Amino acid sequence: MLQEILLPKESQLRLASIELNGQMIVISVASTNQQENCPHCQKVSSRIHSHYRRHPADLPLAGHTVRLEISVKRFFGFNDDCQCTTFAERMPELLKPYARRTNRLLQNQLQAAFVLGGEASARLLTLMGVPVSGDTLLRLIRQTPEAEVKTPRVLGVDDWAKRKGQDYGTLLVDLENRQPVDLLLERSVASLAEWLKAHPGVEIISRDRGTEYIKGATEGAPDAIQVADRWHLLKNLREALQRLSCVFDHRLSKKQKDCSKANLNVLKQQRYQIRMENLSPRSKRPPRYNPKQHQRQQ
Ligand SMILES: [Zn+2]
Repeated sequence: MLQEILLPKESQLRLASIELNGQMIVISVASTNQQENCPHCQKVSSRIHSHYRRHPADLPLAGHTVRLEISVKRFFGFNDDCQCTTFAERMPELLKPYARRTNRLLQNQLQAAFVLGGEASARLLTLMGVPVSGDTLLRLIRQTPEAEVKTPRVLGVDDWAKRKGQDYGTLLVDLENRQPVDLLLERSVASLAEWLKAHPGVEIISRDRGTEYIKGATEGAPDAIQVADRWHLLKNLREALQRLSCVFDHRLSKKQKDCSKANLNVLKQQRYQIRMENLSPRSKRPPRYNPKQHQRQQ
C-alpha cells in the first residue's frame, strides 16, 4: 500500500525502509531489475558490475523534506563495438540520469517557478518543505525545452526594447491564444518579412503605425489583412479628439471674450444703480442756499 503511494507503479523499485532523520524523511529504495539495455547500442546485459547509491530529493511528506536513497545497479556491456564497457540502469519513470530531483518534484518546482518566478517560488517551496534557491529554479526554467508553437492565424507585431531608446527587437504574439510566438532581434522590414515567409498561414496582422512593420507585413504576407492594434487605435482617437478640441477652444475663447465685454458693461451699470440707491437721504437732499452763489447766478 505504502509502496504504491510512494513509488511509481510501473517502476521496478521496492520500498526498503523509511526513516526520520531530524526534519528529513529518508526513503530507502532498491531496484529489482535484473537486466538492462545499454543506452547506446541497446544490447541487453544481465551481468552486474557494481552498485552505487543515488540521493535525489522528492516531494515533501507532511511538511517534512523527503530524500530517496536508491540502490542502483551498474551492468557490464558486452558489445565490443560499443563505447560503453559498463552502464547504469535507468529509472525513467522516477528520475532522469544524473538528476538530483525526481520527475514529480521537478514538475512541481517548474509549475511554481513559471507562475511566481525564481525568488518568490523559492520562498514558497522552502516553506512547503522543498528547500531550493531562486537561481536553481531559473536554471530549471531555462533548461525546459520550448513547446512547439503553430503559426498563428492572428499575429500581433510590436517592438521590444533591448536598450530603451537605442536598440529594439520585434515581439510576435498569437493574439487568439494570447501566447508569445517568437522574438526577432531586429525591428526591420527584412526580419519581419523573412519570418512571415517562413511561417505561411497568417491571415490577420495587428501592428503599430511604424513603416518597418507595414512594409515587412506587406512583403512577407501580402494576402494578410493589416490592422492597427488597440493601443494605436486609441492613440489615433485621442489625437483626433485633441485636434478637434483645439478648434472648438479657439472659437469658444473668441465668443467668451465678446461675452465678457458685454457682461462687464452690464455689471458696471448695475453697480452704479445700486450705489445710487444706497446713497444716504442727506446726500440726496438739494444743496443749501448760498446767497453769494445765488447772486452770481443772477
Ligand atoms: Zn552498448
